[in-house]
Amino acid sequence: MDEKLERRLFEKYEFLRPTQDRSIVENNMEIMAKQMPEEKLKDLEDIEESLGHKGLISDSVKEYKNKYNPDIYDKEIEPINDLMVFGMQCDNGWYDLLDDLFSKIQAYLNKYPELNRSFKVDEVKEKYGTLRVYYSGGDSYIDDLISEAEKKSETICEVCGAKGKLCNTAYDIEFLNGSFYKVPSDDRGWFKVLCKFDAEKLGYMYDKKKISDSEAYKILMKEKAENDDTLSNRYQYSESYIEEVKRENEKIEKYLDILKKRL
Ligand SMILES: [Zn+2]
Repeated sequence: MDEKLERRLFEKYEFLRPTQDRSIVENNMEIMAKQMPEEKLKDLEDIEESLGHKGLISDSVKEYKNKYNPDIYDKEIEPINDLMVFGMQCDNGWYDLLDDLFSKIQAYLNKYPELNRSFKVDEVKEKYGTLRVYYSGGDSYIDDLISEAEKKSETICEVCGAKGKLCNTAYDIEFLNGSFYKVPSDDRGWFKVLCKFDAEKLGYMYDKKKISDSEAYKILMKEKAENDDTLSNRYQYSESYIEEVKRENEKIEKYLDILKKRL
């Protein structure tokens, strides 16, 4: 979340405020980046590229590496014991959702000074696409408020706050009512709650999408080749994963049979 918005929340709600100085994150990042050997940086870049998120972390590592700060070499990484120093680890679209949740909590805490003293939010983040708020203290009423907000996050675009739904970068090919579709995967890829507009902009699948037989054929052939490759190196993988790949291949072959008759 933008620092300006975060600061507004930190100023409003004491139970959010990190107990450590937030510069700790920046300092640790800089120390780690300076100490990271070049070959490890290269490995990181390769992993990012294979995941389709080029430069996700390595760009900031490079930036820190290039910063001239001679003091850093004498420093050691400081342990972080309050994850709120990372701020609100989600995008701006959930600002109102969070502000609303925290104001309800604050109103409740105001009535119970004892609860107020012990309640602390430990971490706010997005996980598997939806909101998670971790906390200590509180009671069942606060538990309910928080689960309600987490549930609500499933319908609010994390980027802009408009109505949204859980989207995914990965898709499966499905044969439905005589046509082939790309269908958002429910177990692979990166999840995020998005409106249609932001999903398109960020390369997430908002809805299932009808595709031509020839496109389906191309995708399935590629997937089959990848699966065959996995199966020929099966000793590198767990048995359960190999079973899964075999099942997937059976489905792909079934679909390819349909396509061969149609194309
Ligand atoms: Zn949006």
